Amino acid sequence: MTTCEERFRRLFDQSPDPTWIIEDNRFIDCNEAAVRLLGYTSKEGLLRSHPSDLSPEFQPDGERSLMKAERILGTMVGGGFRRFEWTHRKADGTTFPAEVTLTPMSLDGRTVIHCAWRDISARKADEAALQLAASVYRNTIEGIVITDSEGTIVSVNPAFSEITGFRAEEAIGQTPRILKSDRHDETFYKQLWTRLLDTGQWQGEIWNRRKNGEVYLQHQTITRIPGPHPAAAQFVAIFNDITELRRKDERIQHLAFHDALTELPNRLLLTDRLEHGIAVAERERQRLAVLFLDLDQFKVVNDTLGHDHGDALLQVMGDRLRTAVRGCDTLSRLGGDEFVVVLTDPENEAEVAAVAERIIEAVNRPVDLGPVRVHVSGSIGIALFPDDGMNVVSLMKNADAAMYAAKAAGKSTFRFFNAAMTYRAEERLQLVSDLRLAIDKQQLELFVQPKISLATRLPCGAEALVRWRHPERGLISPADFIPLAEEAGLIISLGEWVLDQSCRTLAQLRKQGFGGMRMAINVSATQLHEGCLEDTIRAMLDAYGLEPATMEIELTESMVMNDPDRAIRLLGKLRASGITIAVDDFGTGYSSLAYLKRLPIDTLKIDRTFVLDADNNEDDAQICRTIIALGNSLRLSVVAEGVETARQADCLAEWGCQTAQGYFFARPMPAAEFLTWVTGQSACLPQALP
Ligand code: C2E
Ligand code: CA
Ligand code: CA
Repeated sequence: MTTCEERFRRLFDQSPDPTWIIEDNRFIDCNEAAVRLLGYTSKEGLLRSHPSDLSPEFQPDGERSLMKAERILGTMVGGGFRRFEWTHRKADGTTFPAEVTLTPMSLDGRTVIHCAWRDISARKADEAALQLAASVYRNTIEGIVITDSEGTIVSVNPAFSEITGFRAEEAIGQTPRILKSDRHDETFYKQLWTRLLDTGQWQGEIWNRRKNGEVYLQHQTITRIPGPHPAAAQFVAIFNDITELRRKDERIQHLAFHDALTELPNRLLLTDRLEHGIAVAERERQRLAVLFLDLDQFKVVNDTLGHDHGDALLQVMGDRLRTAVRGCDTLSRLGGDEFVVVLTDPENEAEVAAVAERIIEAVNRPVDLGPVRVHVSGSIGIALFPDDGMNVVSLMKNADAAMYAAKAAGKSTFRFFNAAMTYRAEERLQLVSDLRLAIDKQQLELFVQPKISLATRLPCGAEALVRWRHPERGLISPADFIPLAEEAGLIISLGEWVLDQSCRTLAQLRKQGFGGMRMAINVSATQLHEGCLEDTIRAMLDAYGLEPATMEIELTESMVMNDPDRAIRLLGKLRASGITIAVDDFGTGYSSLAYLKRLPIDTLKIDRTFVLDADNNEDDAQICRTIIALGNSLRLSVVAEGVETARQADCLAEWGCQTAQGYFFARPMPAAEFLTWVTGQSACLPQALP
């Protein structure tokens, strides 16, 4: 027979919930679960301990455990049960939260307290996690919107309201379409939904509209939260407003391509634009000019007045340059006091020169920096596409070299690039000293290229073209060393050498029976202006016993047109003595028709860039025809240089051009070779001198 007490005992012992009996604030009994869960090895050990040993000194509310226990037990006297949370301490000292239920009961006529408790650590952790989640939901700066499976908004967080302007009660019950802007088309939303339904998630940027109508950019992640059945699924969208971020990105992007001080395009953007410009110029067969500007006294201002004033000066210069160029031209600051202007499709060199002059003028105007007035000037180097370079690197390099030449020429001026400028300073010094010796050491060679009468296809003259056979560098082009000779003051003696050799060749020709042939020599600006050209030529002709009419001088169009009045005077004297005069590279410079009429000249030489494509480019053909017509009407003979094909020769002949020169007929050749070549051509007698 089991008594009621035994049954109770079994229940007490076997209960999974730890339980003990307290009488007069002391444990009198406990069950196995209590022993186990508190980490004791035996019931006796646990019962021996004072209740205070089973708790930390203080409860979470700060009350001393002992006092609190006595206070609570004290309230039990009146009967009824109590349930509360209590922090226990295990045998190993660790603590855990428990939910305690105290029930007074009578045992053998005495009133004892039955105490059952449960470890609620797990529940507590869940609660804390939930609380954390709720707090994150409330406090995050990310907007969160939760919809049901139909897309109806069921919850939004405060950040949602903050960003969109819709209060929770305005949004709940609506769909997220209340935020829709008109920045995306139907396909955008279709793709969003397809992806969301296929993969359970969509992430991306989306333009939405706030309640106040303002459109903004948000970065958003939408996730499908599956429910117990499909209709119970929910969608959670988390987003933040990245409009400002994007604006900053754009600013950073702008800064990456612009100079912060002047807001002008920087080197990166310049390179990009220049590349593009070159591609267009190539396709459209246009020219392009790169102007490299360096301020002359900037360093002085910066060093004496300080960087702030230096910066202010650069800003003023940036503004002035902006007004000096057209909107379609690229103006950029490379850094320091270096600016670059790219002119697209300039009409001719004169137009480029005019821009350079305008820039120099703008730079020259005094600048007021607070109470100080400063004066700076600018030096400009110019490189042209395609003449001086076919790509960004060579154009920039050559414009830079020309800028140094402009500085060397006294600053506040501009220079067009020429090949000799590219030599580095030491290299130049070496070359100049080599060149000085070249004349004595007989390293110069006279090459001669025949001129052909287009009517008879027989040689009627020749052009003397000098070459330099450098012992280490090999054959150097005159385009490279003539400018060097000019700068180094060697051009006069070099010119005399060419003149002497040309006369020698002419004398040989006469001996061979070609006394009627005329030899053209190229004369540079210095020779024309500084030497006593006329006297030198006359003396040389006399020495060889030659007629002045056998000698022609070629001057470039820009040389003549730079100072036409002076040219008229100088050329007048030469021509009076019977020497003929040709204007070289005609069409590339800027001729004034009024001056052209008055210039004492005999011949126009059509520049080879126009001849090059005369047979398949209508613009070039038109230029050739115009120059021929101009020559005819001014009673000047016209020579086309650079004729490379039979078609070009035929076209030019058809258009009325009398004379041609070019690889199609013969390349420039050493003078001795030329003498033999002429003999081979002599089925017909040479053209008589006029
Ligand atoms: P330039 O007076 O325009 O000379 C014509 C140039 O065109 C020469 O180059 C000649 O070799 C080249 N040429 C001739 N036919 C053709 C052709 O069919 N196709 C092509 N692509 N080119 C052709 P070069 O000899 O290199 O002379 C370059 C420049 O150097 C000359 O241009 C001239 O300005 C200057 N130069 C040459 N010799 C002298 C000189 O003795 N004194 C001076 N001051 N300058 C000279
Ligand atoms: Ca020439
Ligand atoms: Ca020429």
